[in-house]
Amino acid sequence: MGGDGVLKKIGAIFAAVAAVAIVAFFVWDGVFNKTASKEFFAMDTVISVKITGKDADKCVAEIEKCVAELDSILTRHKTTSEISIINKNSGGNLSDKTAEYFRLLLDVSKKSGGAFDFTLGAVSDLWGFGKNPVVPEVAEIQKLLSECGYNKVTLSGNELTVGGGIIDFGAVGKGIALDEIRSILENAKVKEAVISVGGSVLLYGEKEASVGIRDPYGNAGRSIATLSLADTCISTSGSYERCFEENGKTYHHIIDPKTGFPVENELISVTVISQNGAISDALSTACFVLGVEKGAALAKEFGCEAVFITKDKRVYATDGAAPKLEITDTSYTLI
Ligand code: AMP
Ligand code: MG
Repeated sequence: MGGDGVLKKIGAIFAAVAAVAIVAFFVWDGVFNKTASKEFFAMDTVISVKITGKDADKCVAEIEKCVAELDSILTRHKTTSEISIINKNSGGNLSDKTAEYFRLLLDVSKKSGGAFDFTLGAVSDLWGFGKNPVVPEVAEIQKLLSECGYNKVTLSGNELTVGGGIIDFGAVGKGIALDEIRSILENAKVKEAVISVGGSVLLYGEKEASVGIRDPYGNAGRSIATLSLADTCISTSGSYERCFEENGKTYHHIIDPKTGFPVENELISVTVISQNGAISDALSTACFVLGVEKGAALAKEFGCEAVFITKDKRVYATDGAAPKLEITDTSYTLI
């Protein structure tokens, strides 16, 4: 065999090895980076999961179980839930995890100067948002409002005392779910995932992804801006959720603890970005109540970034959020 023949043979061997390696890579990648998606209803909202990783299917099942368990702890609408029992007994001895949630709720309530108040359950029920909505009598609101208040709640170790009102995790449950789901993804060594629980999204993994900020005047599928981020939680609170109209006036579900009425300020939605899902969720509600200036200060205090959208389509972004934000609807203006 001449020199040319040997070279050809070596070339063919290399080509064959490369081909086998490429096929092996795709087989390996297919097995170890499988993608699984599912959409389901829980915690009174739509949950969607998209996971890429070795045990993607197993992870989806685990997430469904985890969310159901969390709902059975946090819901006020089942008499057997831990929160319902706390409400019935005006406190109790909490599990470590639930105590941790309450510590966060107390912290956000205090730092927001009471704009966030997790004891407004009875006031929200009076309005009947999402069920049988009605504008209540002012006297009724004031009576319930005088009974509640986060400052009547004390937590000593795991011992909780509730001095009045009804505990409501509505403003933070979706974010707590994201934190619990993140633990499942970490344990399963998932590569990347996008999890959405109502208005709260977890972008898991190093790859940057784009999350839409919902059009406050359009349907749920339409966005007016995008945030390009990786490995973080993004929560949005808006007055377009759980709202109703009576005598030409719109009432929505985010309550001003000072009045017991839906918040009336310049805002229509607030989006908060945080590593911690519970903080992003709680702060989106708190910042909505506080308005742009005080809301931005609260976000800063928690090391979070935020995007505020006003009713007249102005967009305010904190310094860290602005470079990640792209406004896609030109009727909105970044200030
Ligand atoms: P979100 O959609 O996360 O902004 O949460 C709104 C939910 O939080 C409402 O449906 C109520 O259950 C509850 N909520 C309303 N007003 C407040 C408030 N000022 N502080 C804390 N929770 C609130
Ligand atoms: Mg919230």
